[in-house]
Amino acid sequence: MATVEQHIPETHNGSAGTGEGIAVENPATGEIVATVADLGPEAVAEMAARGRAAQPAWAAFGFEGRARVLLRAQKWLMDNAEQVVSTIVSETGKTYEDAMFAEISYGGGAFGFWAKQAPHYLGDERVKSSQVLVKGKKLILRFRPLGLIGVIGPWNYPLTNSFGDCIPALAAGNSVILKPSEITPLTSLLLAEGLRECGLPENVLQVATGRGPTGAALIDHVDMIMFTGSTRTGRKVAEAAARRLIPASLELGGKDPMIVLSDADLERAANFATYYSMQNAGQTCISIERAYVEEAVYDEFVAKVSDKVRALRVGKPDDYGTVEVGAITFPPQLDTIKDHVGDAIQKGARVLTGGHQVAGAGRFFEPTVVVDVDHSMKIMTEETFGPTLPIMKVRDAEEALRLANDTPYGLGASVFTRDTERGEAIARRIEAGAATVNDAMINYAALELPMGGAKASGLGSRHGAGGIRKFCSQQAIVVTPRLALKREPHMYPYKARTSRLLGRFFKFLYGRGRRD
Ligand code: NAD
Repeated sequence: MATVEQHIPETHNGSAGTGEGIAVENPATGEIVATVADLGPEAVAEMAARGRAAQPAWAAFGFEGRARVLLRAQKWLMDNAEQVVSTIVSETGKTYEDAMFAEISYGGGAFGFWAKQAPHYLGDERVKSSQVLVKGKKLILRFRPLGLIGVIGPWNYPLTNSFGDCIPALAAGNSVILKPSEITPLTSLLLAEGLRECGLPENVLQVATGRGPTGAALIDHVDMIMFTGSTRTGRKVAEAAARRLIPASLELGGKDPMIVLSDADLERAANFATYYSMQNAGQTCISIERAYVEEAVYDEFVAKVSDKVRALRVGKPDDYGTVEVGAITFPPQLDTIKDHVGDAIQKGARVLTGGHQVAGAGRFFEPTVVVDVDHSMKIMTEETFGPTLPIMKVRDAEEALRLANDTPYGLGASVFTRDTERGEAIARRIEAGAATVNDAMINYAALELPMGGAKASGLGSRHGAGGIRKFCSQQAIVVTPRLALKREPHMYPYKARTSRLLGRFFKFLYGRGRRD
């Protein structure tokens, strides 16, 4: 067991919060792999002061200077990929592949993407206006860093969903304080160390380890809060941000539906259903959480998926290729999974494979396929966040759509059909922030596309122009040329003749529209 060194004064390392450190457990073995500090409000306040002091110099690096650091960090991540993978695996219990494919590859891509795209998304924009009052003036839309950004993350993807949002925030010229999940803080500490090695100035990125209260304290000090986590906590974060009138971007829970139409390539659909419901042991916000299959192909689809899921190996990941399904990272999540499966069975569902916690050391749940399900069951309506796939038979695409939208969530969705036009038309009718046709989850890899939830799945989005502009304030600049009138016609003193003339002018401009 190791005590993880944090780049903060000794007095705050474990003693400024609850007085006790936080033990980080390997969920695959039950071993404690490290302890980290549980920082209290005073430590967070001091970090915020240091972050604020460091920010102007970082902003002054300019896009090019910041890109140099981020590109060095990209190289650092690739050079140290195995160390980062084993750190992720040690605190999440996920497979080496889940760490490599969905975290290292994301981080590598994101460092390069934001280094390159930040100047395009945030460079000054010259704006043309059709409005007569500003004719002849220079109009500029300008983005400037907000200052100090707080990033609060969940435990399921310590790199992608926690640290990942720090990258655009830094690329925009902000200082960042990252509050990783108390369950998985080690990856963030390692990456912060890596960035320092790459030339990121001291205190531009700080990691505030701690539990919920540390996150709450962070919101009291930052200029914007980027939160990823459950919808329940997201509401609290939104309330706290509203009290301070600071912007909040919220990436929350989901219950993503998959729709399989009778003309789908069933082999591809079954492979995608299996992979994207079980990948990361189902602990992905945009994993396939439920499937609706047209009755003509239901039996064949269920048989294919059951066979594929039955073949998956679950257990402690010892290296690449040893298991497909890793541990349940967060202890209470196991209770939720068991509760949802139990509730479904009690209401008449059948488990075709899996259905139980794996006995022995570590925290694992068998990859599980459930049928004869309906929307009276939690497994179809609440976020399960486990290696489970409930499959429901539907009459037709309309019924599938109605059920897909019968949820408070709206993160992602997928439609499988050989008729891609029809698939796209159905995707457009799903109330979700992202929808894929003959694919799943892959929209997350397109950093140019916004990724954010509809309904209770969030506010705002990451990626794309909005994914970096949210870390900036907008400033509209209007420059009137030197050779301008001394006094403009609408100004004092008001004269009836001029005012009537202006009135006629507006009528001429705007009064000629159609009335029907
Ligand atoms: P959580 O809401 O329990 O915790 C998230 C973070 O919030 C943790 O760091 C926690 O310490 C902190 N926190 C707790 N109370 C707080 C408070 N009052 N103020 C500020 N911070 C507080 O979520 P979790 O269990 O860690 O993560 C799982 C959830 O995250 C799932 O619902 C999943 O769908 C969601 N998630 C969403 C996305 C997305 O992009 N939409 C990505 C990953 C995970």
